Formats: sequence, structure tokens, C-alpha cells
Amino acid sequence: MVYRAEYIWIDGTEPTKEVRSKTKILQDGEEPGIWGYDGSSTNQAPGDKSDIVLKPVSTFPDPIRGGDNILVMCESMFVDMTPIPTNTRSLARAAEDKYGDQEPWFGLEQEYTLLDPETKWPYGFPPAGYPGPQGPYYCGVGALRIAGRDLVELHTDWCIAAGLKISGTNAEVMPGQWEFQIGPAGTVEVGDHLWIARYLLYRAGEEFNIEVSIDAKPMKGDWNGAGMHTNFSTKAMRESYEPIIAACEAMGAEGVPAKHLEGYGIGIEERLTGDHETQRFDQFSYGVSDRGASIRIPWQVEQDQKGYIEDRRPNANADPYVVAGLLTDTIGSALA
Ligand code: ADP
Ligand code: MN
Ligand code: MN
Ligand code: MN
Repeated sequence: MVYRAEYIWIDGTEPTKEVRSKTKILQDGEEPGIWGYDGSSTNQAPGDKSDIVLKPVSTFPDPIRGGDNILVMCESMFVDMTPIPTNTRSLARAAEDKYGDQEPWFGLEQEYTLLDPETKWPYGFPPAGYPGPQGPYYCGVGALRIAGRDLVELHTDWCIAAGLKISGTNAEVMPGQWEFQIGPAGTVEVGDHLWIARYLLYRAGEEFNIEVSIDAKPMKGDWNGAGMHTNFSTKAMRESYEPIIAACEAMGAEGVPAKHLEGYGIGIEERLTGDHETQRFDQFSYGVSDRGASIRIPWQVEQDQKGYIEDRRPNANADPYVVAGLLTDTIGSALA
């Protein structure tokens, strides 16, 4: 008997990296070993030095093929087994090696937009027209408010069957926009699970012939953008309030907001306008229950005097390895 391993990796597409995959047939009992691909076709290598090595780093049951088949998350390496420049998982690993003893946890809220693949118009928008203004769609129910729920349910089934730490889903403020959450999970783990969940989302899109976009501002004008709110805590933050405030202060220290925004995805200025439940990209603030702040402290956290904080700035198209690495470094060093 044979089984199939779907090798999954992150490419070098500019400005936003994308997920790629290919299939390896393995003999019964054979482990998924090191493999490779043509880096000159993924914007990761010149044609005369095109071989990039795929190093398996975590495996999941394949919920699409079922049986013994697996999904294999990989890091991209040079042939000497050092990470290539776009291998951002290596950065998350370094941050976790340094501050993992503080037990950082992440919950990522991945927002995304379903599009008609021909017109590129959001699913649920009338053809070449606009739906009624935002208001009834967030967590909405019913045919006039909701489009694409079958795809969302299939994606959720697949995430659960793959053993991902998916913690919920909801319809978003703009029609055709949805969210799923991954977490709580560790610095590297949350990136692995989020990238696999994105892979499954695009695969679900193939089933329905619906395009999935993680563009941060798919519709210009009075429509919400798409973010990847990042909920974060360390063991100390989960135990008392003072480290919560210390973490917020560290995130606002001189030079830190600009450094973080560089890693928070493409189109930050378009999405972080100060409207649509965002703080402006050139201002930093934190506050309890404040959806217009850069960082929100949930009311329950103030109530309990412990818990976590929500960085509302990362874009839907951000790389979770980069975001998780930055937060682990900044808050890990402040609380050390
Ligand atoms: P929102 O109210 O902003 O829409 P969500 O319910 O969508 O929040 O997402 C919250 C996320 O935070 C979930 O993924 C959840 O698992 C995660 N989370 C909960 N507690 C913690 C914690 N202590 N540290 C980090 N993440 C957490
Ligand atoms: Mn949410
Ligand atoms: Mn949301
Ligand atoms: Mn949120």
C-alpha cells in the first residue's frame, strides 16, 4: 500500500507571500523525508541555483484525502540546510528559543473575503452593484445577509479533522467577509496552524469555484478592511494585571510601533485609517474595550485583573510567523 503526503511551504511572491504544495507518494511505513522544489518558479532562487530544500517540520492528518494521508508543513532551506531569506518560520523559532520559557500564547483572528473568480466582486454583493450599508451582516443569519456559508462550514470541518487549534468562526461586517480563529497556541505552532488553515481555505475555494482573498482592503470606501487581530499573553500576563500594562507600554515604546507595522502586512495605511474600528497607522494607543485603539484590553481582562491583550493592527495578509515572532521578542524582552 502507498499513501500521500502533501508538502506545504511558503513562497517568495512579492509583496505578499503565498502558500504552495505538491504531492509525494510514499510506501507504507516510509517517513516523509527531505524533498525539494524549483525556487526559480517561486521567486526564491535564480535559475542557475534553483534547488531549494523542503524540510518537514510538522505533520497533520489530511482531512481532504482522509485515510493515512497527511499534510506536511515544511521550511525552505538552502542545500547546506540554512534557512533561505523568506523562511520566516526560522525567525519565529529564534524568538521562541529565547522567550519560550515565558510560555507565550497566541490567538489569531484571520479575516478573509470571498470573491467571484471572474468579476473579483465580493460574494454576496449584487453583480456590478452594492448591497445595503454595513450593519446587519456581522454574525448575521439568513439569505439576505449571508453568502458562502457552505464553504466556511467545509473549511471548519477540515480544520477540525486536521487537528488544528481552530477556536471559532463568524461572518464579518462586510458582506462576503468571514473570520476564523486559531489559538491559543505557541509562537511557532500558531504560524504552522494558521498557514495550514489558509491552505485548507484555498482548497475549499477550489471545491466551490470561489476565490479566497486575504487582501487587507478589498473594497475601497465605506467597507471594513480585513485584519488578523493578534491576541497575546504570557504566563505572567495570565496571572496578574501589572504585566498586561507593562506589555502595552513595551508595544508603544519609542521606535517599536514602526518596527511592528513593517511586519504587519501590505496595505497597512489603507486599512489603519482611524475609521472602521481601527487606530490610525501613525498613532499608537491602548485601552480597555477600545476598538479604536492599536491594542485593546478586553473588558473581562480588566475585570479579572489578568488574561491577554489584542493587537488589532496586523493585516489579514500578514505572515503569522513574523507577527508572532515580533510580539514574542518585544514583550518577552520587556517582561524578562
Ligand atoms: P474578538 O472578540 O476580538 O472577536 P475572538 O473571539 O475572535 O475575539 O478571538 C479571540 C482569540 O483569542 C481566540 O483565538 C482565543 O483562543 C484567543 N485567546 C483567548 N485567551 C487567550 C490568551 N490568554 N492568550 C492568547 N490568546 C487567547
Ligand atoms: Mn474575532
Ligand atoms: Mn473580526
Ligand atoms: Mn478581534
